[in-house]
Amino acid sequence: MMEIGSLWEAITPAAPKCAKLTDAITADVVVVGAGFLGLSSALHAAKAGLDVVLLESHQPGFGASGRNTGFVVPSLKTSLGPAEVVAALGADHAGRLLKLVAGSGRAVFDLISRYDIDCDAVQNGWLQPAHSRAAEEVLHGRMPRLVAAGVDAEWLDRDAMLKRTGLPSLHGGIRVASGGQITPLAYAYGLARAAISAGVRLFGDSPVKSIEPDGQGWRVRTAAGEVRARRVLMTTNALIGNLLPELRASIIPARVFQIATQPLPRPLRETLLPDMAPVADTRRHTFALRWSPDGRLVTGGMVPPLPGRMALARRLFANRLRRMVPDLTEVRVEYSWTGMIAGTLDFLPRMMRIKPGIDAVIGCNGRGVALTTALGREIGPWLAGRMADADLTLPLTAPRPIPFSRISGLGPHLILPVWEARDAFEARFR
Ligand SMILES: Cc1cc2nc3c(=O)[nH]c(=O)nc-3n(C[C@H](O)[C@H](O)[C@H](O)COP(=O)(O)OP(=O)(O)OC[C@H]3O[C@@H](n4cnc5c(N)ncnc54)[C@H](O)[C@@H]3O)c2cc1C
Repeated sequence: MMEIGSLWEAITPAAPKCAKLTDAITADVVVVGAGFLGLSSALHAAKAGLDVVLLESHQPGFGASGRNTGFVVPSLKTSLGPAEVVAALGADHAGRLLKLVAGSGRAVFDLISRYDIDCDAVQNGWLQPAHSRAAEEVLHGRMPRLVAAGVDAEWLDRDAMLKRTGLPSLHGGIRVASGGQITPLAYAYGLARAAISAGVRLFGDSPVKSIEPDGQGWRVRTAAGEVRARRVLMTTNALIGNLLPELRASIIPARVFQIATQPLPRPLRETLLPDMAPVADTRRHTFALRWSPDGRLVTGGMVPPLPGRMALARRLFANRLRRMVPDLTEVRVEYSWTGMIAGTLDFLPRMMRIKPGIDAVIGCNGRGVALTTALGREIGPWLAGRMADADLTLPLTAPRPIPFSRISGLGPHLILPVWEARDAFEARFR
């Protein structure tokens, strides 16, 4: 059996049905995009007393939120220490972002338990082993600053990491206890249900076509309806299209591929990632692996920009899996799918004031499951006027276009062979 499609769609029970917007309505705030960020922001804005309309082009979780690997990662890219974050955001905002990220794993699992979201949540930590001895040293050197930033990280030596992963080629590394894994589409549907029950009017199949000035506020038009509101929050991630060119130009969109194997025998599940803690190593082209709730291995990454990329992805990632998991005798790829991430040059998310009353949060750089949830938790009260702009975690800045942003997404894919060659050399000789 080979399915072309997402494993998460196959195993997640039906979505809450979100009807299309066909009327002219009003609201306090319109949120555009029902991924984790839009859903968490809308939910928390409604909880803070606002009348919220959430508009989604397709159905909740259509974007990266329903297609990701489901790793709950309560840390920024580990190469981003306090100094780099301070240089990018200034000392105050850097301190707030590091604190928010350190608590973001707990934010996800708390929300899941508060709203009783059935999404196969497992909070048994997130693992980052080194791929070489040299990388192990560098990672070990970063431990103190992770701990200083409030991340509940512990160091595992090579033997301890082997027990946790069952992957003999990997070295020692970090375990962040408050991390874990979820089934991402089920989490998106659960957030959507929570938002609807908090009073959010969530419309699916309602792509926003234009946003025009309307007195003191904005008129947000879809193909068949419109919403008038004082405030608009853009949470479209990489799928922004041509709606707001200045927002589109401020990110590097990159395509990521995922595969899932056939269900694997139980003895393997007892030695490979036995705690169901997901693993992502230090390679430039990260090797990431997790179990699905139905006993499949899920992995993925980027693929060079060649024709037939999905077929290539299936072949490349199945081969990588065979190399990394020695006990895996047979790999059949039964599901494969793809999604888009929104990158930034410094790997940090951004909050932007596009125009007075239109704000956007974007650029979660492939680490957005926990981060978007945690950001949404403060954006809700902020939209309700309970928090000043100056107190936000991220500074509210003007959009900063990235040169050649439209084709910039090709960059990581083009450089992939170089990264992989360096990763392989280091894993073997360093
Ligand atoms: C393959 C893959 C694997 C990943 N793995 C992980 C992981 O394991 N852990 C992790 O932390 N992060 C991971 N990420 C990143 C993570 O998924 C994202 O950072 C996060 O889901 C972003 O959420 P979001 O709400 O900002 O955007 P999205 O989920 O992309 O939501 C944006 C939504 O906006 C809608 N939209 C766009 N334009 C319009 C419009 N004009 N009108 C109405 N709606 C519109 C889209 O349809 C979409 O539903 C991964 C990403 C990918 C692609």
